[in-house]
This record gives sequence, C-alpha cells and structure tokens, in this order.
Amino acid sequence: MTKKNNDNSALKVNEGISQPPSVNPYLSKKRKSEKCSTETIFQGIINGDMRLLSKAITLIESSNQEHHKQSQEIVEKCLPYAGNSVRIGITGVPGVGKSTFIESFGKSITSKNYKLAVLAIDPSSNRTKGSILGDKTRMVDLSADENAFIRPSPSSGSLGGVARKTRESIILCEAAGFDVIFVETVGVGQSEIAVHSMVDFFLLLMLAGAGDELQGIKRGIMEMADAILINKADGNNVHMANLAKTQYRSALHLFPPTESGWVPVVETCSAQTGENVDKVWGIIENYAHHVKENGFFQQRRNNQNKMIMYDSVNESLKNDFYHNENIKQMLPQIEKELLELKKSSYMAANELLKKYYTKE
Ligand code: GDP
Repeated sequence: MTKKNNDNSALKVNEGISQPPSVNPYLSKKRKSEKCSTETIFQGIINGDMRLLSKAITLIESSNQEHHKQSQEIVEKCLPYAGNSVRIGITGVPGVGKSTFIESFGKSITSKNYKLAVLAIDPSSNRTKGSILGDKTRMVDLSADENAFIRPSPSSGSLGGVARKTRESIILCEAAGFDVIFVETVGVGQSEIAVHSMVDFFLLLMLAGAGDELQGIKRGIMEMADAILINKADGNNVHMANLAKTQYRSALHLFPPTESGWVPVVETCSAQTGENVDKVWGIIENYAHHVKENGFFQQRRNNQNKMIMYDSVNESLKNDFYHNENIKQMLPQIEKELLELKKSSYMAANELLKKYYTKE
C-alpha cells in the first residue's frame, strides 16, 4: 500500500507497525488482476497462456480508455504472430442448431489435435442481456476441452464496435497458437456481413422445409456462403433435407460465379447425431487448397484489411464531425430550416461541412 493510501485510510496504522494482511480476498484478487504489463500479457499470449489471452480480450472489450490503449499495443505486438489460422464464419437463424453443430464439429476438429477458438458476434446481446455463447449450458463438452477456447460475444456496443473487437480477438487467438477460429453469429442480416468480412470461409446452416423467408435468409446471405449445410437431417427429416439439398444446389446455379472460382457446396448433416459433420472439415480443406492455389485466399484477407482501414477512417471522421462543438450547436437550427423547406438537404450538408472545415 502506498503512503498516500495509508494517509487516506480509515484504518490508519502507526508507522513501524506492519499492516495486517487483507482479509478481503476479493481485494487482493482485484489488485492481482490489475497489474499486468503489456509485455507480460503479450509474452503470455504467444506462449499460449489462456488466462492472459482472456485478459487481453477483456481489455479489448473494455470501454476504459487506458484499457483500450493497452489493448491496441498488445494487438500491434501480436500482429506479426497472427494470420496462421483458418477463420470460419458460422451463421443461421436461432434454433437452426449452431451451438449443437459447433460442439459436434468443434470436437471433431480438436480430436485432430487442432486448437480451436470460438468467438461470436451478437450485437443484439446488449438488448437482450443474454449474449449468445454467454449461456453456460451451451457447448458443455467443448468448454471442457483443453484444445478449445470459447469466448462469448462482446456484450455491448454497435455492430461496428463489436466487429472490431472480434477482429482484434482473432489476431490474439492466432498469436496464441489457435489453428482454427470459428466466428458465430445469429442470422439477422447485418451481423453476417460483418462476420463475412473477417473470415476465410463462410458456412450457412439452414433447415429443410422452413422456407427461406421464414429463416430470414436473404439472397445476399446465400450468395456469401461457401457452403450451405442443411442441419437436422435425421429421423423423419432425412427425406426433406435431401430434397432441400437438391433445391439449394439448383438455386445456387442461378447465382453469378463466385470471385474465388469456388462452387459453394450444399450438404445435409445432423449436428445431433454427428452424421456428415466430419465431412465439413474436408470441404473446408478443399476450399483452402483451391483458394490458396489461385491466390484468392490472400486476396480476400488483403481486401478485408483494406476495408477495415477505410471503415475505421470513415468511422473516426464521422465521430469527429458529430462531436465537433460548432456542429453540435448548428445542427438543430439547420434541421429546422431544412424541415421548413428554407434549405435543401444538400445546401444544409454543405453549410455544415463548410463550418466544420473552416472551423469558424
Ligand atoms: P442455435 O440457436 O442455432 O444455437 O441452435 P441450438 O444448437 O441451440 O439447437 C436448437 C435446438 O435444435 C436444440 O433443441 C437442439 O437439440 C436441436 N438440434 C440441433 N441440431 C440438431 C440436429 O441435427 N437434429 C435434431 N433433430 N435436432 C437438433
């Protein structure tokens, strides 16, 4: 304890008499978890220390400025050690069987002695307070697997913010030696696009007979898929699942050819019985072979990195603009004039920008 704290303490102890040990175990635990240098965390990560990896991800997710700064330093240091995994996005509507599939597929991956990290993007979790993957009853076996690391979705923030945190977590997981990274999302539109922008392979889980509309699957999402798996192909559902497989295969033929030259695979599986789940790894290996050979693998990652850079410039400019005091003051009046048809939208925008740039 420092001199300053001693002076402020209600339990002031005379100098020369040693302090009794803290009887509050939480306090000492807290103090221990606070003191960790960037270098210590970085070394821990590259040595595969799961506790320090978790700690670093917590720093990434923190809204505290100091934590943010430290997390950026850690990410920068880890960057040269990152990039050596296969990043797989997994999506599908709630109830399609994502967590059952991740558990089953995840176990088959770890049994091959690969290290698997499971991350998630669920921008709705701050509304529902129940983040996907946060529920401890999900993926019980995988959680206990020493080759697996499961991290719930960052529990707050905009989709952009959550996506950034997940991207940075991918870098840390790769530096920590994970060979395969799953990024799970709920099938609600925007979050799939975010996941697609950070993975090498995009897997869409579907159900037979539920209808695309019912499943909330937009054509655009199907177009992004490198593989479509029709889950729950077991029991009485096998016939329907096979029918759906044929239908999706012919539907995909109507789409324009993919940039990668890869023809998306449609298969049935049962996450519950494990039927065909093992095949998925073979599909991903074939894909990786195909796109590494034709250069698309690196091209996709390069494009993603470029996009992230432009996105963060845009985000930062926008923030700076709307936090500008002059703009904040001017906005209500301009909006009023706009609504009274005294100004066009373009004129109003020009005036705002002029004010911002001249900083009058
Ligand atoms: P999520 O919301 O997409 O993560 O879906 P869950 O993995 O929680 O699964 C939703 C329900 O579907 C659960 O009751 C699962 O037991 C069930 N389920 C998942 N996969 C299968 C499957 O392959 N076959 C059958 N019959 N049920 C499944």
